[in-house]
Amino acid sequence: MKKSLGLVAHDEKKQLLADWCKKHSTKLSQLDLYSTGTTGKKIIEYAGLSVTRLASGPMGGDAQLGAMIAEERLDGLIFFIDGLAAMPHDVDVKALIRLATIYDVPFACNQSTANAVLELF
Ligand code: PGA
Repeated sequence: MKKSLGLVAHDEKKQLLADWCKKHSTKLSQLDLYSTGTTGKKIIEYAGLSVTRLASGPMGGDAQLGAMIAEERLDGLIFFIDGLAAMPHDVDVKALIRLATIYDVPFACNQSTANAVLELF
């Protein structure tokens, strides 16, 4: 069975994640990819990958990814967080990080760690 990976980036980090996805597209294309709405659109357009788009993050997309973790349907999470801006949906961001932590899901919130996490796939 294919492994699944969640991909999310805050607005200031979306291009960084799109570049990272393009760079690793061969490997990523072998996985089931899930993304919050706007991040997913950018990855599809820029990196040409097939991605299942969930709701936009502030509209429940982070919560949907959290639910996937709780249902043990997500094998890893790449979440490029903007550490310099306040988020209206901070509570959802924290919940997603919390679930990735307690379910011991490999989880990266910056590029260096994302490279390491991808090695596990
Ligand atoms: P987005 O959501 O991909 O829909 O912008 C990401 C987020 O802000 O959590």
